[in-house]
Amino acid sequence: MSSWAGAQRLAHLVANRAHDDLGVARERYPVDVYGALDAPEVRIMWRPTPRLLGIYLCEPGAEKGVLLNRELTRAARRHTAAHELGHNRFGHGTHLDREIDEYLDSAPAAGWPKVEKEAETFAAWFLMPPPAVRAALARLGLRTADSAMQVYQLSLRLGTPYRTTARHLGNMRHITHQQAAQWSRVRPERLKASLDKHASPPGSRACDVWLVDPASRDEHLVLSPGDRVAVELAAGARADTVAGGVTGNRISVPPWMSVVADSAAVSGCRRVVLDTADQVTPAVARVDVDDRVPWSFTVELRPPPALGLDPLTSAAFERQARDAEHRSAGGDQAGDETPEQTRVEIPAEISGRRMT
Ligand SMILES: [Zn+2]
Repeated sequence: MSSWAGAQRLAHLVANRAHDDLGVARERYPVDVYGALDAPEVRIMWRPTPRLLGIYLCEPGAEKGVLLNRELTRAARRHTAAHELGHNRFGHGTHLDREIDEYLDSAPAAGWPKVEKEAETFAAWFLMPPPAVRAALARLGLRTADSAMQVYQLSLRLGTPYRTTARHLGNMRHITHQQAAQWSRVRPERLKASLDKHASPPGSRACDVWLVDPASRDEHLVLSPGDRVAVELAAGARADTVAGGVTGNRISVPPWMSVVADSAAVSGCRRVVLDTADQVTPAVARVDVDDRVPWSFTVELRPPPALGLDPLTSAAFERQARDAEHRSAGGDQAGDETPEQTRVEIPAEISGRRMT
């Protein structure tokens, strides 16, 4: 099987089977990919790995493991975890996944190795089973996505990369392939900037901007450090709000968030932008909005996972990974070596330790 269409069909079946085997409810989002990875005795290890998305380790006589780059965004971490789970479910061998842009920012190239097509399409179907996509769309008050912005907001709820989500909606026939191709070319940074254009630019555009409005009543948002929330109030909402910039008599803002923009005077529809600022520890709060009809939503700040290996072991592991990368890059590029043929020697201290 070599075509993307064939990989899609097979991956959909394999992902469904994985949901069943691992007890993943297909109508719930975001799909718990880390719980699923842990279930079949695959160790999860978190490290900052600048040149790698992740590594799937499957060596004879050793326990299976997945090393994930902690420095990725939430969506990219989840997608990489699902991709590595795909290698596991398809029975692939040890595999290094590098080049962040290759998977997340560019259209899938026709020349991908078969194992990569399998793992990549698996990741999309595993994280975005149709019932979960429909549930997330319904939560946004949508039957299908009509704009790049709606795809972006959907991707935040599903915990999936924006472009992967756009392409997957096309594969699901929720939107046409033409729309999917068109929207996947939109830079998410542009969408984010259009949501908080009345605020000072954030330190990094890797952080997300969640859009909530009265339809978001009771929604639970899982934020990462640096994320912003653009709260849109019903047209005609009272404009004398957010006294002191933190706690107003119209929007209650948790102490670990700050108001960075209030576009009441700028447009008819009022938008207040909240920033998670410097908050890096877990936190949960309810935000009450005293709109024409009062509503509220919940924000949960979830920092990246803790490092999963002790520094000594990690250094040894990274040396092995670097060596493997070096070997695969030198002289083999013109050949037909596929990434799954790259071998990594796993230090015994890694393969024998339970990661947290
Ligand atoms: Zn891979």
